[in-house]
Amino acid sequence: MFLTEVEAKKMLAKAGIKVAETLLATSKKEAVQMSEQVGFPVVLKVVSLDIIHKSEAGGVKVNLQTAAEIEKAYDDILASAAKKCPAAKIQGIAVQHMAPAGTEVIIGMTKDSQFGATLMFGLGGIFVELLKDVSFRVVPLSKLDASEMIKEIKGYNLLTGFRGQPAVDIGALEEMLLQVSQFIESNPQISELDLNPVLAYTKGAIAVDARINVEEPVVKPKVQLKNNRKLGDLECLFYPKTVAVVGASNNPSTHGYGFVKHLVDFGFKGSIYPITPKYTNVLGIKAYPNIDSVPENVEHVIYCVDLATLPDFMDKGAKKGLRSIHIFAARGAETGRADAKELEATVKAKALQYNIRLLGPNCMGVYCPESGFSFFEDAPKESGFVGGIIQSGGSSTDITRYGSLRGLRFSKMVSYGNALDINEMDLLKYMCDDPKTKVIISFIEGLRGDGKEFLELVRQTTAKKPFIVLKGGMSKAGARATMSHTASLAGSSKIWETAIRQAGGIPVKDIDDLVNLAVAFSFLPPIKGRRVGTGGSGGGRNTISVDQWENCGFEVVPLPGEIRDEFKKRGSVLWDVLDNPADASIIIPGDAYNVTDLLTEMAKSSSYDFICGNVAVDDYVYNKENFSDYVGKKVEGYIKLHKANIKPFFVIFIARPFGIKEMDHWLWREAAKLRTKLVEEKVPFFPLVDRAAQAINEIIWYYDRKEKRQNEK
Ligand code: ADP
Ligand code: MG
Repeated sequence: MFLTEVEAKKMLAKAGIKVAETLLATSKKEAVQMSEQVGFPVVLKVVSLDIIHKSEAGGVKVNLQTAAEIEKAYDDILASAAKKCPAAKIQGIAVQHMAPAGTEVIIGMTKDSQFGATLMFGLGGIFVELLKDVSFRVVPLSKLDASEMIKEIKGYNLLTGFRGQPAVDIGALEEMLLQVSQFIESNPQISELDLNPVLAYTKGAIAVDARINVEEPVVKPKVQLKNNRKLGDLECLFYPKTVAVVGASNNPSTHGYGFVKHLVDFGFKGSIYPITPKYTNVLGIKAYPNIDSVPENVEHVIYCVDLATLPDFMDKGAKKGLRSIHIFAARGAETGRADAKELEATVKAKALQYNIRLLGPNCMGVYCPESGFSFFEDAPKESGFVGGIIQSGGSSTDITRYGSLRGLRFSKMVSYGNALDINEMDLLKYMCDDPKTKVIISFIEGLRGDGKEFLELVRQTTAKKPFIVLKGGMSKAGARATMSHTASLAGSSKIWETAIRQAGGIPVKDIDDLVNLAVAFSFLPPIKGRRVGTGGSGGGRNTISVDQWENCGFEVVPLPGEIRDEFKKRGSVLWDVLDNPADASIIIPGDAYNVTDLLTEMAKSSSYDFICGNVAVDDYVYNKENFSDYVGKKVEGYIKLHKANIKPFFVIFIARPFGIKEMDHWLWREAAKLRTKLVEEKVPFFPLVDRAAQAINEIIWYYDRKEKRQNEK
């Protein structure tokens, strides 16, 4: 139900939000009296719940200076409303003081299905209607949020005094945003709000129009933690002492074979029990026909047989001290079928009854090299510190495989599928507290926990470590895909990105970015500035790379004089030619300086914030011998520069696809070898300049915002 403008303003004023004083007149006489009360000049407006756009209905008359003008305006408004909206029920005429002209901005609120009340800020008029130049923040707002959301709009410069226009009081707008945020929090019945316009001045700001809609607030059932389980208590999942694989097999094309083999290959230290009536042993390990016959208690099970058999199995497993089950089996709720949903509900009820944690169904489970779990055979056996929360099964292997080729090593990667029990909340809490995890990456198709609680957890997490998250189902077609894939609901993309950023997390658009950012955060220290020293390829590619750096907001600072002087002193014939970017094509073997020397000098100089070396593999000017010699030496130089640890340093190693006939070509083999070398030496590399630039931008953003949040406290 909408409130009238008069009611809405009364409510806002009571909360201390500055609004133009407004009274409701039901006669001309009253209107004149009230004008004296609010003070001339005045504005008269039609008051009707049936008229949403008052101006369009001829329902707003401004700058009225005299009693006569007020009386005429009163009649005109009623006449116009009767003509344009004959069915509208008119409650009277609002009489309000006319605020002086100012810059019109808009403050609004809508409710997002995932994150609840969300404030919007923008410039009034065409900026919001035509250009949609608005920013959002989830309620409650912090001071930093309010300040950021104003700065974020494209028209921000119009507020700070563009072309002689007076600058407006940004502090007053921030204050009003914070007040509205509080107002919304303490009035959950408000479902929509529009202060359009708010007039902003060199000093202060005032709302002159207000719309509020109230509804019975929807009380979401609280997501209950089950059986007093502590959020994120997942030790049983990562470090069980005994594991049984149900559906174990000697047939290499089954997952029942794969999961046993991974446990063996990755050195699982506890007991492994293959469970199958078909074999007496699997991969040489004694097998048991069912869980009852296993000679000891079983803490964890990997369940690779039909989901329909799981309820019965759980009854038996409960007697064996079962603490967790990874349900690899699919065809649960993601099919959308009623019987599958019912089956999942039965499984969930039993999990609560027996206090067994469930991972899945429909997922690859756990990769934790430290304890000997893997979901594919050639994942690295070496542990690292990247933790992954991946809803999809296929993407979990994809991200792990691709990430590992880029040098990432993992503490735990978890594919959690339909999230019948363990969901993103549990996993994020675990990884937030896990000292072995220093960078968290995530691919979520649909939140299972409460949106606001999730954001709070992201906030807690990002105060400690970076959290990079890819959300599936953001486009309309994508939303359908998640529905059928993991039976999830997805929220709108703009609000998602805003909410994640607000909580200090980094939203990304695809798996490549997820991996790029994990590489950046894993290998690079905080970077504070945007001045890059670069080079290493030939003229053309260098030029493009400079353009790309600059397009992404970085500065390719020319070589300072003292570096040139140093080159001259040391006898370089190119002392006046060399520059940033370091052009590899004019340097020849035997020159006093090579590319690495040049980059090293830049690393030492206070003119640069970070250094980037290019490797141009597809620049096909070499034969095999001089490729290994020339490009190989360059990569060695880069490794040396990395080890010297003078400045943040990384490499652009261009990766182009190649055809099947080229697979055995020496060029790709040599390139792959060099890349492996970089991985071994823990030198970060990126496939393209703009992907690297984006990653560096995120590093700068993350550490800068973390610091601001700390200072805010
Ligand atoms: P609507 O949005 O329903 O058309 P508004 O109440 O926003 O009607 O009024 C239209 C315009 O009139 C506003 O955008 C603003 O420019 C001006 N206006 C309205 N009320 C006032 C006021 N009290 N003081 C100054 N200007 C006003
Ligand atoms: Mg308006």
